Amino acid sequence: MSVPGDDDDLRPATRLVRVGRDPRVTGPFVNPPVVHASTVLFESADDMLGNRQRYVYGRRGTPTSDALESAITEIEDSAGAVLCPSGLSAATLAILACVESGDRVLIVDSVYGPVRHFADTVLKRMGVSVDYYDPCIGAGIASLFRDRTTLVYCEAPGSLTFEMQDIPAIAAVAHERGARVVVDNTWATPLYFKPLAHGADIAVVAGTKYIVGHSDVMLGTVAANDSAWRQIKETHGTLGLAVGPDDIYLALRGLRTMAVRLERQSASGLEVARWLAGRSEVSRVLHPALPGDPGYDLWRRDMTGAASLFGFVLAGWSETDAKTLIDGLRLFGIGASWGGYESLAILAKVRHIRTAVPWRAEGPLIRLHIGLEDPADLIADLERSFAAVVTARAADDTAD
Ligand SMILES: *Cc1c(COP(=O)(O)O)cnc(C)c1O
Repeated sequence: MSVPGDDDDLRPATRLVRVGRDPRVTGPFVNPPVVHASTVLFESADDMLGNRQRYVYGRRGTPTSDALESAITEIEDSAGAVLCPSGLSAATLAILACVESGDRVLIVDSVYGPVRHFADTVLKRMGVSVDYYDPCIGAGIASLFRDRTTLVYCEAPGSLTFEMQDIPAIAAVAHERGARVVVDNTWATPLYFKPLAHGADIAVVAGTKYIVGHSDVMLGTVAANDSAWRQIKETHGTLGLAVGPDDIYLALRGLRTMAVRLERQSASGLEVARWLAGRSEVSRVLHPALPGDPGYDLWRRDMTGAASLFGFVLAGWSETDAKTLIDGLRLFGIGASWGGYESLAILAKVRHIRTAVPWRAEGPLIRLHIGLEDPADLIADLERSFAAVVTARAADDTAD
């Protein structure tokens, strides 16, 4: 059975089944034990003082956390990985591990909103300056470096607006200047994009989304290469970030089926996206895996698949029309997060969270997450709701 590293030649779906299953941890069972622990006992006072044990305290690791950490380490091809209580805490850990007072960080303008909030509050209070940059900047990021720029934070495609980023070009510039590169890889997951193989030092994933896959657990992962791993591990321990064993177990269970879920959701997502692109009301579909999308070439070059999360713009529509469309959907829930088995729709408000490149759109932006439903049902649902908006508008016009 698997000793880390010996499955490198296997295909991604096969690796997802085998990772994190060390028989020294699981014994004869298929799955690891769910170990609930704070205190860990030692044989003697000397053993405790000398830290002479694999496990010393619940927060510092258990067989359950070992199983998921080693699984993530393997699929990220990283030096090591840690688990955090949410995707946001994984992102903030990655940043905190790399900066000190007086440093500057470059953060992509399309970053996940709560990470921007962290940068504008906590980082600022720490005396770390933040510059936001155009997601499409590529190697042009060189012109934004200053003396103490020590970190570049990327996310591709961007939250809500789905711009792709040229990670290898950005990483090459950053490393020339001695800066570290963090990539939030929640959209593509390590299955469809390998940040470290494309030049990043640290890969962050909100496991809450596709890894967990069932909308029932919050969890984040941080994987790092040799140059950043010690700092990540040390900062993770110092901050006391620990995840409960039941949540870890559910994330590991989700990981086993991630390849098959993503394959289906990705195909359904593209089917719905293509259907929307053919609607006269829709002026733009924001999906990097659609030919014609501004990020398509980068997506094709760097990623091996696409998530089922994308946006579309309704040209000339009012916000009320867009809300009527969302409220009229029967099969799409209205709510934050994504990556579960069920479809979701939200009205995306972007303008207030862009500062480097103002968001300009010809109408409201809706973000869809496509789940495991039959895409024909989802399309029929959308079609019905589009028709309802037209009816509501006609009724409004008569009332005027
Ligand atoms: C959801 C999300 C996060 C945060 O994950 P939580 O588990 O909700 O804290 C971070 N980055 C991206 C891109 C996300 O979509």
